[in-house]
Amino acid sequence: MQLWGGIEGGGTKFVCAVGTGPDDLREVARFDTTTPAETLERVVGFFRGHGDVAAVGIASFGPVDPDPHSPTFGHITTTPKPGWAHTDVAGAVTDALGVPVGFDTDVNIAALGEWRWGAAQGLDTFLYLTIGTGIGGGGMANGQLMHGLVHPEMGHIPLPRDIARDPFEGSCPYHGDCLEGLASGPAIEARWGQSAEELPVYHDAWTLEAEYLAQALVSFICTLSPQRIVMGGGVMEQAQLFAMIRRRVQELLNGYVAHASILEDIAGYIVPPGLGSRSGVLGAIALAQRAAAE
Ligand code: ADP
Ligand code: ZN
Repeated sequence: MQLWGGIEGGGTKFVCAVGTGPDDLREVARFDTTTPAETLERVVGFFRGHGDVAAVGIASFGPVDPDPHSPTFGHITTTPKPGWAHTDVAGAVTDALGVPVGFDTDVNIAALGEWRWGAAQGLDTFLYLTIGTGIGGGGMANGQLMHGLVHPEMGHIPLPRDIARDPFEGSCPYHGDCLEGLASGPAIEARWGQSAEELPVYHDAWTLEAEYLAQALVSFICTLSPQRIVMGGGVMEQAQLFAMIRRRVQELLNGYVAHASILEDIAGYIVPPGLGSRSGVLGAIALAQRAAAE
């Protein structure tokens, strides 16, 4: 049986795995994200030490160039993360391992993992959102992973907001009070002076967080008509958010999108990842299989 390699490259850590799927992840390793050279050397070393992978899939933090016909395909492009702008991640892995390599955004590939083995099986138009250090969204439209001019940047939409209720200026270095600037983990910490994981379960922070996320979901629902929305990332570990977001999405839509998924089964419509925190790395394994088939 062929073995596949998966890499989930994040701004904090890189997770590497060898295996064939959720019931067969043979080796998993985590490396801190330091400099590109050091981090990619460790990643490549991991795969060299674990036998023959037939192909590797890479799910990368971004922004990235996901266009296979572009000269900068597989590069991280304009990231504010020090040292990482213009890093050729796919090229480094291809040159070192000499196997087919697939490359896409972390969120598109988490979506692919959820589609293959998790909460989005059988769907052709759905979203995967991560609410963590940043906010990102990906998914499929009509059975294809979402690409276009570049790739979606759902975390950076502007939101209607009430400055009297929330005077926080926002933490996005590009836009200030975009969705990510208002609702990412670092934004929560900057607003309340306490890290998101340390805030109590019953706190105004979560009412406000649910409001912003619900506003964003309403925009995405009205724009893309997803059949389901999967929400992951560290902030969504606050499981109480799900019920609050679902209720607020229904209120904001006000019956206008007249589908049973929203009117009657919102708990099956806005859901946590079926693969838990493994959507990204398992999606990367699924991407490796695709890369080998092409
Ligand atoms: P990353 O986005 O870096 O890949 P995560 O998805 O784990 O990683 O997101 C990290 C962010 O999520 C941090 O801002 C952290 O404060 C927040 N976070 C992590 N765990 C929790 C938790 N249990 N409750 C609320 N926020 C959390
Ligand atoms: Zn922004």
